Amino acid sequence: MRNERYDIVIIGSGAGGGTMAHALSDTPARILIVERGDFVPQEDENWSPEAVWKRLRYQTKERWIDDRGLEFRPYTHYNVGGNTKFWGSVLYRLRRRDFEEVEHMDGVSPSWPIDYDTLAPYYDRAERLYHVHGEPGADPTEPERGPYPHAPVPHSDGMAAIVAELRAQGLHPSALPLGIRDGCILCSTCNSFACKVHAKSEAEVCCVRPALERPNVELWTNAYAKRLVTNGSGTKIESVEVERNGEAIRVESALFVVSCGAVNSAALLLRSANDRHPGGLANSSGLVGRRYMAHLATMMQGFHPFRKNPTVFQKTVAINDFYFRGPHSRYPLGQIQSQGRTHGVMAKTVVPQVPLSWYDWWVARGVDWLAMSEDLPDTANRVIVDSRGRIQLVYRPNNLRAHRMLVKETRRILRRLGFWVVMTHSHGSKNTTHQCGTIVFGNDPRTSVLNPYCRAHDVENLFVVDASFFPSSAAVNPALTIAAQALRVADHIRQDL
Ligand SMILES: Cc1cc2nc3c(=O)[nH]c(=O)nc-3n(C[C@H](O)[C@H](O)[C@H](O)COP(=O)(O)OP(=O)(O)OC[C@H]3O[C@@H](n4cnc5c(N)ncnc54)[C@H](O)[C@@H]3O)c2cc1C
Ligand code: SF4
Repeated sequence: MRNERYDIVIIGSGAGGGTMAHALSDTPARILIVERGDFVPQEDENWSPEAVWKRLRYQTKERWIDDRGLEFRPYTHYNVGGNTKFWGSVLYRLRRRDFEEVEHMDGVSPSWPIDYDTLAPYYDRAERLYHVHGEPGADPTEPERGPYPHAPVPHSDGMAAIVAELRAQGLHPSALPLGIRDGCILCSTCNSFACKVHAKSEAEVCCVRPALERPNVELWTNAYAKRLVTNGSGTKIESVEVERNGEAIRVESALFVVSCGAVNSAALLLRSANDRHPGGLANSSGLVGRRYMAHLATMMQGFHPFRKNPTVFQKTVAINDFYFRGPHSRYPLGQIQSQGRTHGVMAKTVVPQVPLSWYDWWVARGVDWLAMSEDLPDTANRVIVDSRGRIQLVYRPNNLRAHRMLVKETRRILRRLGFWVVMTHSHGSKNTTHQCGTIVFGNDPRTSVLNPYCRAHDVENLFVVDASFFPSSAAVNPALTIAAQALRVADHIRQDL
């Protein structure tokens, strides 16, 4: 096996790994980014609903196993930039209370080992790095903050009218914080599509490419991190075994930053079990792979047969009135966001027998929304690596009553807006887009895997900076928090370089 040596190895180039690579790129350290996927080409298919939703051109072909032992193709992407290439770029801060213990209808959302004030300066930096557009002051749940780096993305006329009607209903709609860059044409193929003109703020364009301009940063694409290998006493990782284009390479390093996404990072640590770490690397707590969370998400569409929806870029509105308590409940329900436009091809994946022309007619008269609630950590919800090396995801969603209330309330709001029919759809337990929680951070090594700087309690040169570290999922989109914590951890690592 060929041997290579770097000062820092970062495994994965998404929200966590890409941000980390960028943050450390101006240090003298020789940094290697190991990424199992390749660059997403800039091509017409980037914006083609057929390519993205019918042919699943960019989604991994890998199969995972569900809790019943049945194979499914996870909705996740292995490429430079990770899932950020396909995200909707809604870049929220957690609410102040999300860092604290919060009682929910079905249990308790645990506190974080850090508070909002600790992360706030890193949120500021992450928002600048990812060009976040927003408007402070309108969202009743927003934590204290300064101005956004950029003014909010303006609502279309149609969405502005809806916002006015929502206000008339007594609600407090606010601008969705969005990461977009110069050159954005506010098209209808953003969320779930790659941006053909590289105007979306995502980890490849905001972080990985600028980092690669430095001579000390290298990226290996098509390079799969198979296993982390420790020294004899198990206290330090010595190397990572990488498979790159069919070649096995051993890469040694002083420091390893794992950021493969919450499912794959847990799988990597579990695959790296050895005599000193029989239950998986850094797993003395038994929590590696456990407490998997993914949000409860229902796509909703208000439909009116005589109202064509002329909006192209629709993803600009948030309703956070029920984030901390429902209108008829003292418990948090979650968040409502307007969504990117549904295309007929996307809708047809739900009931393929219905002709496309019918779906095209339908979606042209629909306004799309997402209702999203917090799911709670449960050690029974977990990632397992089976005897054949396959990933098994055992996930039974919880906090469902709160989510049903949120969906019901959203339906009421949409009916009051005059929509005749409200359609709903959910990927249920197969929803992996907001995966988190599998390698939790905390102060106590018995109840967490990582310390508050995301360093493993058990292995001194291992950091994990993707969505795995979340102790709770909150109910806003996760990625700005991943990026902010990666910046914080990078500052911590720099002190020793
Ligand atoms: C369609 C879609 C829309 C979304 N919209 C939003 C949104 O609007 N706002 C938001 O906050 N979040 C959104 N998300 C979620 C967001 O993309 C994720 O939370 C975020 O990307 C997670 O960051 P990460 O670093 O944990 O993992 P990822 O970004 O997934 O990065 C993991 C990287 O590790 C690589 N990798 C995995 N295993 C290995 C291995 N063994 N060896 C080498 N490399 C490996 C992967 O190829 C990938 O590049 C969306 C996700 C999807 C799919
Ligand atoms: S042009 Fe703008 S709206 Fe369209 S995909 Fe790119 S970032 Fe998204």
